[in-house]
Amino acid sequence: MANTAFQPRVFSGIQPSGGLTLGNYLGALKRFADMQNEGNFETIYCMVDLHAITVWQDPETLKRNTRELCAGFIASGVDPEKSILFNQSQVPEHAQLAWVFNTVARMGWLNRMTQFKDKAGKNRENASVGLFAYPSLMAADILIYHATHVPVGDDQKQHLELTRDIAAKFNHDYGVDFFPITEPVIEGAATRVMSLRDGSKKMSKSDPSDMSRINMTDDADTIATKLRKARTDPDALPSEVKGLEDRPEARNLINIYAAFADMTPEQVLAEVGGKQFSEFKPMLAELAVSKLSPISSEMSRLMQDQDEIDKILRRGAERAREITEPILAKTYDIVGMVR
Ligand code: ATP
Ligand code: MG
Repeated sequence: MANTAFQPRVFSGIQPSGGLTLGNYLGALKRFADMQNEGNFETIYCMVDLHAITVWQDPETLKRNTRELCAGFIASGVDPEKSILFNQSQVPEHAQLAWVFNTVARMGWLNRMTQFKDKAGKNRENASVGLFAYPSLMAADILIYHATHVPVGDDQKQHLELTRDIAAKFNHDYGVDFFPITEPVIEGAATRVMSLRDGSKKMSKSDPSDMSRINMTDDADTIATKLRKARTDPDALPSEVKGLEDRPEARNLINIYAAFADMTPEQVLAEVGGKQFSEFKPMLAELAVSKLSPISSEMSRLMQDQDEIDKILRRGAERAREITEPILAKTYDIVGMVR
């Protein structure tokens, strides 16, 4: 089914599961603001608090993280007037549609999800049912808006494919063309920012090691220290991208530099090829600080007025429900619920 019948609409979310990282900024937030400003789409952005509780969260910390995440969205350029900005739990249709999708998704599909395997670890029997069902809630987050495009980091590609499978199976099972087949938008030089300690692991806000990531609220000294200590190999930087093969840590730092500078990795290497890490790391630290420090000061400023943040979230949720209520009502009608 072509998506031309659906209005161009972007949805994406971030979990309030801890402080924001450089990965969240380059892979998601920065691109959310870009898509909002391009003006080709209606943009809807969400703090997905119901996803966060799939692993244990301290309740007071979760509330704080949700507000701080809202400040992070705004400080990164998401404008609550231009975009719809809210937290997931204030729009009950997300969870209601997720239940319907739990009856559409198959156990076998969810069993293949690598995020569940990574997060559940060795003790799968002890993981929450919510962590297993996470992808059907994510499909609901997207499809409750009939969103046509979803900007995400590379780690979410598999969940986006599942969203498409759920939409297609729902449409097929009920003989309708009701849900769009959503396009993932995974673009730019930093679709997968890696851990600073281990070039084979993605940078995550929930990683136990703070040295593995750059937080958006880290000060200049902390950013410089973390980059200086970032794991690398002993060789100089290559002049061409081909020279980054089998050098995941070097590739990661080049990709980060490229994303901040709005350059391609090729262009960066043309400038810094031949340099040692001891010279390149301070250049990267300076660039990162110049981009992140205005955002983190704006975040702290916004965090001083919690009532204002809560008001923004409530207002965003009201606007979101103008879209979600009719789509849920129609879904219930399609599946045979008496209204
Ligand atoms: P958690 O560890 O709790 O899962 P997270 O850092 O992975 O946190 P999410 O809320 O799961 O953050 O993801 C929010 C968005 O950030 C998603 O679009 C995701 O693809 C993107 N993202 C997360 N980590 C990275 C990364 N290392 N590089 C690029 N994008 C990322
Ligand atoms: Mg994640």
